[in-house]
Parts: sequence; C-alpha cells; structure tokens
Amino acid sequence: MSDLIALTEGDGLIEISAPSADRYAALKLIDWWDQAKLRNARVMVVGAGALGNEVLKNLALLGVGHILLADFDSVEAANLSRSVLYRAEDSGKRKVDVAAARLREINPDVRVATFHGDVTQALGQGVYRRVDVVIGCLDNRAARLAVNRACWRYGVAWIDGAIEVLMGIARVFVPDQGACYECTMTEADYDLVNVRYRCPLLRPEDLQDGRQPTTPTSASIVAAWQVQEAVKLLHGMAVPAGKGIYVNGHTYSTSLLTYTEREDCFSHNQGRALVTELPLRAADLTVGGFYAAIAPLLAAEGAQKAALLPELEIVSRFYCPTCEVTTPVYRPYDAVMPDGATCPTCGVPRLPSILSRLALSAESPAAAVPLAQLGVPPLAVLQVAATLQGAECIFWFELSADADAQFAAWSR
Ligand SMILES: [Zn+2]
Ligand SMILES: [Zn+2]
Repeated sequence: MSDLIALTEGDGLIEISAPSADRYAALKLIDWWDQAKLRNARVMVVGAGALGNEVLKNLALLGVGHILLADFDSVEAANLSRSVLYRAEDSGKRKVDVAAARLREINPDVRVATFHGDVTQALGQGVYRRVDVVIGCLDNRAARLAVNRACWRYGVAWIDGAIEVLMGIARVFVPDQGACYECTMTEADYDLVNVRYRCPLLRPEDLQDGRQPTTPTSASIVAAWQVQEAVKLLHGMAVPAGKGIYVNGHTYSTSLLTYTEREDCFSHNQGRALVTELPLRAADLTVGGFYAAIAPLLAAEGAQKAALLPELEIVSRFYCPTCEVTTPVYRPYDAVMPDGATCPTCGVPRLPSILSRLALSAESPAAAVPLAQLGVPPLAVLQVAATLQGAECIFWFELSADADAQFAAWSR
C-alpha cells in the first residue's frame, strides 16, 4: 500500500500524507493522546526478564523515546519461552545489549541507554534524577526495596510488577501520594531481604525469594498494566497511587488492593534529597579529592565536621592478633570478607574494623583512597553528614560528570 494518497483536483494533483506513513496514527486517534509526551519521556526499566521483555516491547511500540534499561544477567535457553526480545543465538550475551538492539529494530525512534550490573549497589543514584518514571520488573524484594528507597529519595514514581504462574500484581507508587512499596513489607519480607544482603554468595536459585515459576502470559498481563499506568503518568493523568491490581488467572478475576501508609516506613521518613551537582567523575576521584571539592561548599554553608556516609559497610583495616600488624584496607565488607581477612603472613583470620562513616578532613588517613575502591559507582550521589548550627545535617553531592557516558545513547 502506498504511503501517499493521490487526489485529483481540477488539473492538479494534491498529495497528502496517508495514515499508513505514521506508525502512531492509530494512537493519535485517542483524544487525550500526546505522542510528543511519549517521544520526550525518559523511562527506566529495571530487570530484563519475562516481565521486562513485555514492558520494553510495549514501550517501544508506543514510541517512548528514552529508555534506561538496567539488568545484571545474560541470556540463557530458559529465557526463550518467556522473552520476546531474545533468540537462541543470543545465549551468553548480556540481556541489556540484546534487548536494546531488538528495541531499535522494533522502533528506531526509541533510544536505549543501558546499565549492566546490580541495581541495589552498583547503579549510581543520579539516574533516578534523570528519569520521569521507573518500571520495576524484578524477582526479589531486596531490589524492589532499593528501587523504592531511591524513588522516594528523589521523588520519582515507580510501577512494580510481580508474577507467579497464573497470578500477578501491578502496583503504582507515587512519592507523597499514599503508601510505598516498603509500607507493604512485613517482617517476613524484611527477613528475606536480609538473607539476600547477608549471604551475597548464595546462588539466586538457592534463595527462597526470587526464581518463581513464571509464564509469558502472566508477564504480558502484568506488564500491560504497568505500561498503561506509565502512559497515564506521562500524560499527567490520575493514577491509582498506593494501590495495586491483583490478577488471578485461576479464577478469572481481578481485585484492587489499597495499601496503608506505615508510620515507621524508612522510605517515607528518609526525606527528599537536595542534591548538589559536582562536575566530577567517580573513576577519577579519591576521598581527598572529593573533600577538596566539597570543602568550600560546606564552608559557605557554615557546616563543620564533615563525614562521608558510604552506601556500603567499609572495612577500614585488618588487624592480625598473631603478627600484631595493622593493614589499611578501605574496601566494602562484602568485597573482602571472609577470604580477604586471612593473614598473608601467618594464615590466621584477621580482625576487620568496620566503618559506617568516614571522617572527611585534609588530614584523613583515607585521603588517597579512590572512591571506586569504596564501591562508589559512576553518577553516585554521595551522602555527607556535617554539623550545621549544632545539628547534624545531610548534604547530597552527585558526581554529575558521569551522566554523559551513562546516557550517551539518548543523544545519538
Ligand atoms: Zn512507605
Ligand atoms: Zn598474621
């Protein structure tokens, strides 16, 4: 079928664009639809499994212009029954790379930036400040909790999805509008999160949380709800904040769940981050270099006694009781324990000193330590505690020069 319709008018020929030339023509028939809003939108999708595939496919079909896809996994044969974006020959490749390439095939209007790694620890939180909405396609509570805390800290709405066999749930969480994901967590949920944090070496299949049996049909159903709510959010329409839709495929029924805000919820009580952008990169920076950059800013505020609050617990040094030797370490606890504790001289386990705050000063013994060694990722937002008028305050500093590299695919 031709993309042009020819109409004769008198002697001349008028050519007008036919609907078939515009891939969004059918969507634009919706009276409230604004394709430009979707083209300009920035959506982060966390997880590229069964749910993520369906969410990404829908976002690409709809012409959502800027996607940031975060996932740590690689394609394997077991994904092929539930993942429209993967092929057998993709086995072993990173999911984010394969998915990004397939989305560009589906719709060349879509620009896909990627992050390959663990979203709970290795994703610089500055990404949350650069997206309009986050769609969670996760299989475990620890990652959901991390996404929720970041979304609340930076004021970004997020839409969680979960599936198990013929059942599924899609939930919308909007900062300052009712309950968040953490409000819905029970003591048992926190216990499962702690197992994941305390036992980083456990294989995902050995954890009770995650690896649920899933189908492409339940993934389609839940992902469709998630993307539909995202489209409404991007259009500024009302969404069911703090609510979830539960789909039961056995009984062919749905129910609307309303969650209650919990007074002791950490996500709710942590406060909104007021971020200062620094034109610096994580990879180039030492603790001392970071302090040199922020010291004049803190001084201008009248803030004193600054300390870096690392996201991860840091082992500052090992002490060997046999050799009576102290060795500086300055690495994340999970990165060095337990194997790294063995004394290279005598072979006994050394005692770690663990820091949850790192005093910042010109004479800091950690001044020469690279931030990357402390587990600080690119585009991190670093928390600094300092005393201001007798009270301890938190200052937030983003390593903003990393944004160009993270989002390079968006400007191509
Ligand atoms: Zn909450
Ligand atoms: Zn020793």
